[in-house]
Formats: sequence, structure tokens, C-alpha cells
Amino acid sequence: MLNNPDYVTARGILLDAAAAVGAEQTPLSKSGGRVLARDLTAAEPVPPFDRSPYDGYALRASDTVHASKKTPVTLRVLEEIPAGRVPAAAVKEGTAAKVLTGAPIPEGADAVIKYERTVFTDETVTVFCPLAQGENIVRAGEDVRRGDVLAHSGNVIDPGTAGALAAQGVTAPLVYRVPKVGILSTGSELVDAGEVPRPGKIRNSNRHMLEAALTSMGCEPVWLGTAEDSAEKICALIQRGLSECDAVISTGGVSAGDYDLTPDAMEKAGVELLFRGVDMKPGMACACGVRNGKIVCGLSGNPASSMTSFYVVAVPALKKMMGYRSPLPREIQVKLSQDFDKESHSTRFLRGRLELKDGMAWMALSKNQGNVVLSSMIGCDMMALIPAGSGPVSAGTVLRGFFL
Ligand code: AMP
Ligand code: MG
Repeated sequence: MLNNPDYVTARGILLDAAAAVGAEQTPLSKSGGRVLARDLTAAEPVPPFDRSPYDGYALRASDTVHASKKTPVTLRVLEEIPAGRVPAAAVKEGTAAKVLTGAPIPEGADAVIKYERTVFTDETVTVFCPLAQGENIVRAGEDVRRGDVLAHSGNVIDPGTAGALAAQGVTAPLVYRVPKVGILSTGSELVDAGEVPRPGKIRNSNRHMLEAALTSMGCEPVWLGTAEDSAEKICALIQRGLSECDAVISTGGVSAGDYDLTPDAMEKAGVELLFRGVDMKPGMACACGVRNGKIVCGLSGNPASSMTSFYVVAVPALKKMMGYRSPLPREIQVKLSQDFDKESHSTRFLRGRLELKDGMAWMALSKNQGNVVLSSMIGCDMMALIPAGSGPVSAGTVLRGFFL
């Protein structure tokens, strides 16, 4: 077990301990946002046949070589081919077929002319310029060739992927299961959000922050309950979480005080502690471990600390469980909108919101960066990092940021 590793080490240890959950098939119509568990390799070309991109006439380019305003070429129209119909006849010298957008190109034709550029009757079409071979024909496989790898296992099904799955006839893609993440809260002072707290008690906000965060990232939160400050009670909830869920997250009781019983309770529940404390602020109080491939994260009770540890340390491991190919957050350079006056002995994560000004990314700081400040998480969509050993940071400084 490591004491107080830096956040990169802590994140890496938890990432190594986590494993992707199993896969299942899901109806394509419900698959948006799920993570593919199998590469999507094209079995069929798209489009499947040569087709017309316009309403017009399919003809032989060689028939139009001498066509001009002065010497127009008139061709006999064999048939009309709407989208969805198969051509009945081959286009031979001196003939053409009327084609509508999406229609297959008849045999013998090697170019299409838009109808606006012709003079036509039901029986004939007259062309005033030469056409190049292949002009205005969308070739079979122009979009997707057979054998192309269109998306990889570990990619999120975005609209383009959903469309590509449909084009390949995959109606029930194999995706990773949605991980169930158990949440428990510790603290004898906590009451549920729906209760009126008696003196000395507070409402449990961490539970709902974590539920919202997990839901929005595509995990299924499972509420395990609140344990008062008793190692046995905390242990019982962790055990329940381990039996019902793929991972467990608790808040509270991970500092080094008399009532900080979570790490003991984790060990009682058979969890191997991987590290205790992380050299970062907020979120220094944090203890994480693993049991039978299931990760257990004990986060601070302070709302802003718990959310910072959650995003910095826990989310990459959860994304690995979800099957993500790249579980680390996407980083961006951001300019700080306001001064930040404190020194940072440890790596510090600031909470804020992305703002785009003059095409540049800025981070507007949440008003109060204290680790107990719950309201600083409202509207927070990114965090930025101040390296350990930095002094106060002035507005305009460029920091490494990442999106939540
Ligand atoms: P702890 O990490 O248990 O020492 O708690 C640190 C602070 O966070 C204390 O002021 C707790 O009352 C508060 N706290 C702990 N759990 C929660 C929670 N679930 N919701 C809101 N505040 C909490
Ligand atoms: Mg506590």
C-alpha cells in the first residue's frame, strides 16, 4: 500500500486494478452513448451499388465526346429508374436512362448528367457538352469499403457510429454492460435529502452529486445507504456493494481522525488497500483498494474534495470498467480568468467552467475554491491543474485543464 502518492500514480494504480465489465447485446435504437465491445468491420460496401447522386440521365460518356451548344447530341431514353428500382435494360450507344437520386446506374452507362443541364422529352434527352467517364456516379464502396474498420471496441457509439452500424445491418451491437456503482455515505451527522435535519445534522448531498455524476457518464448508481460512524456498519455496506455492484464509492471517514473508520472498514470487508491519501488538493483524504477485481474508493466527506478525487482518481478507472479505449480525460490548455491567490504546495485542482473568448479557451473559476464548498460544483464542467510548488497564479496564466 502506498501512502500519499501523487495523483498520476494514484490514478494509474486504480486504473491497473480496474477491469472492463462483460459485454451484452443491446438494441441499436437504444445504443447511443454505449461503448462498443467489438470492432465494427464493414461486411458490406456502402453504398452497395453504383448510384446516381442527382435526378438526371445516365449515359455513355463516349456518346457525348462531340457534344456542344452548336452540335448537341440527342439520345433515346430507354426507361425511368427511380430510387429502389432495378434497371431493366443496358444503356447502349445512342441511348440513356432517366435516373433519380439514389437509383442504380444501369449497365453500359458510365456518366450522369443533371437534368437541369439537358433539354428533354419523355422519349429523348439532348446534351450540349461532353461528359467525363465516371462523372456524377457515386461508386459502390465510395463511402465504406468491405473490410474497413469503421469503429473500434472501446469507442462510444456516437451518431455516426450508430448510422454505420445500421448501414451494416447490425441491429443489436455488442456493447459493454453498464457498470453498477454502489454508493454509500458515512457520517453520523447525515440525514437523507428529504428529511429535516435536527440540530447538528446535515443533509446528505454527496450521494446525489455522485449519483448525478455517475448517471451522466453512463454508469448505473446503486444506493447502498448511509452508515453512521461505525466500522462494522460501514463494512456491512461495502460488503453489500461488493456483492451487488461492479465498484463501490463511499464518502466520509477517510482522514486520520478518531471517527475516520472507512479504511479499516474497507479492510474488514476484504478490500486490499492500494493507497491511502493522494498528494493533491482538494482530495488529499482518499483511500482506494480492490477486491476480486472490483475497485472500492473511499473519498472525503467534504463535497468539493470528494468530487475532485472522484474526477481525478476514480473516473478513469470507471471508464476502463465501462470499456473505454481511452479512459484518461481529454486535456486542454486554458487561460485562467481570475487571479488565484493561494500558494500550492501540493498539486492543486481548480474548479470552474469553460468559457470561449475570441476563440481561446478560458476557465472561469468557481467563486470559492474551498474544499467544503459544495456550491463551487454548480455549473462546473472542467478542472485545471496548478503544479505542486507554485505560488499565487495570476489571471491569464495558461494551465492544463480537463473536461468533467
Ligand atoms: P469527513 O470526511 O467524514 O471527515 O467529513 C468531512 C466533512 O464533510 C464534514 O463536515 C462532514 O459533515 C461533511 N460530509 C460528510 N459526508 C457528507 C455528505 N454525504 N454530504 C454532505 N456533507 C458531508
Ligand atoms: Mg465523517
